[in-house]
Amino acid sequence: MVFAGGTSKMFQTGEWRTNTPIFHEDLCKQCLLCAPVCPDGSIPVKDSKRGAFDYDHCKGCGICERVCPFGAIEMKEGNVNGN
Ligand code: SF4
Ligand code: SF4
Repeated sequence: MVFAGGTSKMFQTGEWRTNTPIFHEDLCKQCLLCAPVCPDGSIPVKDSKRGAFDYDHCKGCGICERVCPFGAIEMKEGNVNGN
């Protein structure tokens, strides 16, 4: 139940995840294609660089893996915390 507005950060929707994206930082070219396509805003960007996945809110849809041209994101089965 939602009792007030602006509370989405409090709900840890990452608990629903059945697959988990793993970030291979060594392969990342910081092209930033992945961040805007995440429907859950779970790829933070700071100073024009992406950071670690926000596993509290990532629901494991796998879209970020699909768009990454450099193989820097790998989906793993299950709800794992892989950063
Ligand atoms: S798996 Fe889906 S929800 Fe999780 S970071 Fe990637 S695009 Fe976002
Ligand atoms: S799409 Fe891939 S290479 Fe580009 S910023 Fe995201 S993880 Fe890095």
